[in-house]
Amino acid sequence: MGENTGKKHGLEPDKEYLGIPRQDIPWYPSIDNKDCDACGTCVEYCKLGTFSFTPREDKVTVSSPFNCVVGCNGCQDKCPNSAISFPSTEVIDRVRKKYGV
Ligand code: SF4
Ligand code: SF4
Repeated sequence: MGENTGKKHGLEPDKEYLGIPRQDIPWYPSIDNKDCDACGTCVEYCKLGTFSFTPREDKVTVSSPFNCVVGCNGCQDKCPNSAISFPSTEVIDRVRKKYGV
């Protein structure tokens, strides 16, 4: 009755990108807390669970950064307060170069 950790489904993030361990790629959103009003739009929008809402603190955080799809920045424009940012795609290029892919 263990967890079926090896099973893949549509919403499960890839843990590798082009054979590169996902955690070696620093691509994920950042939230500027001075602009974020914890509206929850990004939490609902990202079906991969990158963001989460902490009711006790009334705060939204990037709780699972490596769930974010490498190269996706779809949520950035959804934030009504422009509080979400991403690094330059150069960070992806740099890691790809390092791994030769
Ligand atoms: S959509 Fe923007 S303002 Fe709303 S919770 Fe997310 S980061 Fe904060
Ligand atoms: S960029 Fe895409 S995958 Fe990454 S957190 Fe935003 S919606 Fe989710």
